[in-house]
Amino acid sequence: MILKDKVAVVTGASRGIGKAIAAMYAKNGASVAILATGAESAAAAAAEIAAGSGSVVRGYACDVTDADAVKSVFKQIIADFGTVDILVNNAGITRDKLMMTMKPDDFDSVIAVNLRGAFLCTKEVYSIFAKKRTGRIINMASVSGIMGNAGQANYSASKAGMIGMTKAIARELASRNVTCNAIAPGFVTTDMTAAFQEDEKILESIPLKRFASPEEIAALALFLASDAAGYITGEVIRIDGGMAM
Ligand code: NAP
Repeated sequence: MILKDKVAVVTGASRGIGKAIAAMYAKNGASVAILATGAESAAAAAAEIAAGSGSVVRGYACDVTDADAVKSVFKQIIADFGTVDILVNNAGITRDKLMMTMKPDDFDSVIAVNLRGAFLCTKEVYSIFAKKRTGRIINMASVSGIMGNAGQANYSASKAGMIGMTKAIARELASRNVTCNAIAPGFVTTDMTAAFQEDEKILESIPLKRFASPEEIAALALFLASDAAGYITGEVIRIDGGMAM
């Protein structure tokens, strides 16, 4: 129960990595707010995690690209839970295409969800964490933001941006004892990678020769949220089976 009495907000937590993080946090004693664009899927994930953990878990419909919606959902979360201690900026999408065929909309929508969404959510906890002189911000980046990936100019840019923003926020909030770190997964078995989980070429490029499970990413997110990680800030931790070493 290393997150006992903590309140966590996890964006993009109706499925995949975000849901695994929300479940891991709830199992370790945190109360958790789950954000996703789908109200039903957020509520269903919250109910399932609450039943499996005994913690308070609530689902909220919120498009993280919408500044007004983000502001009002955090207001509601604070009314419901009293405060926030941990923010996981996990919501993310892909619109993979080679540059030749990538439309401006494909670029803008990926930057909007993956990077602007994290910016907007972080703004909502910034003063709370600074005032409390404690808090954890965990940003979901990707090895694509470190290595670049053909067909992902938009996604790689968003994740490299996430890494830069992580370091800037870490520097801004360090004097307030607030940490901000990024997780950079390689390939993880979620809906996002459903089309290429059996791709031999991809498996060959991973030294450990397999995709990560969402729970393996959640274990790192749990550590970064815990007191044990209090001296780690501005760090980008790869969890990629050795892909980007
Ligand atoms: P996923 O299974 O596709 O789930 C994405 C989640 O984000 C869903 O809960 C989705 O819910 C939510 N979401 C999408 N757009 C949103 C928006 N505008 N506002 C709020 N929520 C939104 O993805 P995943 O694989 O778990 O990925 C999670 C994070 O890890 C992403 O940032 C991704 O880039 C990163 N990542 C994934 C991998 C991988 O191999 N899977 C590797 C490296 C990094 P709704 O559809 O209901 O909105």
